[in-house]
Amino acid sequence: FDFQRHTGEFEAREAANAASAGEPVAQAPVGERLQQALIRIQPIVGERHIVTDAGGVEERGRVLIPAAGRAVAYVYPGSAEEVQQLVRVADELAIPLWPASKGRNWGYGAASPVRDGAIVLVLERLNRIIEVHEELAYAVIEPGVTYRQFNAYLKQHHPDLWCDTTDGTPEGSVIGNALEKGIGETPYGDHFGNLCGMEVVLPTGELVRTGGGPANLATRHTYKWGTGPFLDGMFAQSNLGIVTRAGIWLMPRPEAFCSFTFALEREADFPVIIDRLRDLALKDIIQTKVHLINDFAFLSLVSQYPFELRNGATRLSRDTIRRLAAGFGVTSWSFITGLYGTREEVRLKQAAIRRAFAPYGKLTFITDDSLRRLQGLSATLERMRQRPRLRAISEFVTRRVLRTSPEILAVAPHSHALLQGIPSDFFVGHAYFKAPSRPATDVHPARDQCGLIWFAPIAPMTGRHVGEVIALCEPLFERRGFEIYVALMMINPRSMVVLMGIFYRKDDPDETARATALYGELSDATLVAGYQQYRATVGLMPQILDTAPEFKAAAGRIKSALDPNNILAPGRYGL
Ligand code: ADP
Repeated sequence: FDFQRHTGEFEAREAANAASAGEPVAQAPVGERLQQALIRIQPIVGERHIVTDAGGVEERGRVLIPAAGRAVAYVYPGSAEEVQQLVRVADELAIPLWPASKGRNWGYGAASPVRDGAIVLVLERLNRIIEVHEELAYAVIEPGVTYRQFNAYLKQHHPDLWCDTTDGTPEGSVIGNALEKGIGETPYGDHFGNLCGMEVVLPTGELVRTGGGPANLATRHTYKWGTGPFLDGMFAQSNLGIVTRAGIWLMPRPEAFCSFTFALEREADFPVIIDRLRDLALKDIIQTKVHLINDFAFLSLVSQYPFELRNGATRLSRDTIRRLAAGFGVTSWSFITGLYGTREEVRLKQAAIRRAFAPYGKLTFITDDSLRRLQGLSATLERMRQRPRLRAISEFVTRRVLRTSPEILAVAPHSHALLQGIPSDFFVGHAYFKAPSRPATDVHPARDQCGLIWFAPIAPMTGRHVGEVIALCEPLFERRGFEIYVALMMINPRSMVVLMGIFYRKDDPDETARATALYGELSDATLVAGYQQYRATVGLMPQILDTAPEFKAAAGRIKSALDPNNILAPGRYGL
């Protein structure tokens, strides 16, 4: 171990951390305690599973956001028992531990702590799919299980069950995302809502199973509320325990499925679209999370950022964005979603969708068969495009007959797959929007120093509320010299996440400073107007609950009771 690094530097940091949090400074020097902790951790997990060298720590701590806390070491336990032992060592020596499952949320903070000086526990070696119950449609998994792994496993062994996914990296953790209240794509996209029955290591090392029943509880993974208080909620967006296993409900593969895209014709009709989506979701005709994105968000998927069109400004003008988008056949707002059920149900739902949306823009239904035909056709058009004499015909058919573009055609297979819970690398590519180039494979934007901050307020799902949040934020983006990226995600039929992305270049100090300032301003403005955030980056976590002092104090009392030495993820969501 590189013990020298862990002495004066970290003592100073811990003192600064404690002072800023108004806590007393611990008695024994932290460098010494850290040395002891690492010595005692080594035989628990094995030297191979500890990273303390500066290069390794830096690589693992990469994020897309401007700043995050720095870890002193990354430790990879191999079982829940090892996690318990590590927690006991940390508790005894008062060393902060920060748990992560895979730590791939680059635009929120990835595997980096809120405060400097924590040992980060990455649970990726706990990657067993312990059980899949076909009849009751649930699985029990460990936190290291990724979307890619889970999906491939179910395809092979239980093809009639679907798991959900996100449009983030397929290497993300199913449980990690659920614990952050992440949102997915299929009707099972409320990830935390679909967890049932957890095994948790508390900050003092005890292992508890939620559900309040006997050890052999038959309904552990089939009945969420259990007997007595419902404790599961305490472990979402919190620092009250380390989840080492959880039950997750799975979706029975429907008899029929189709995805569809909608492109809004007139921007003025935007509020009507939100109200129609809500109406159809409340009637259970639309069951997915629906991603409704603006033209700038669409551009980030299909093109590289045109720096040359800024005309000396730090942002593209609205007109330029509109013109660029039109060139790809992209309108002001568009969304994708899916329809599920029996063949009869899907047919009836399609009719309802046509009635609701056809008057407002272009609807395209995509089935497995039509997607195959579309892919065949777009391959033919692409071949024609390569031949000078046929190029014009290819363009005419694409733009005028199909009323689309090759770039939009390239998105369809990915969205069609996502809506069936099949993960894809494609959508993470948008993080490369302002980077010099977008890699074809191995998408890992944090490694490439792309800058992206997610800001995610939630609005009640009415055209008026969603419009108000956007109207509140748009001038702030403008003032700080950024274009506004909006992706609306229906979190349930009554609420929408108004996800906004601040894309910036990490190698540009001025842009980084403006992005940081904008993020703070957006948070302040929306909180004042009464809109909370669905999740926060580690940079914003310390103050995110300041507007809810009674709530924060109550949660703080639970924290003190469960974690008297404040060792588990201190500062997470301000606790
Ligand atoms: P992903 O793999 O999707 O990026 P992460 O592993 O980064 O997800 O999880 C997101 C956050 O949720 C982490 O930073 C951590 O604070 C919390 N978290 C993740 N896994 C656990 C867990 N097993 N127990 C407790 N908290 C967790």
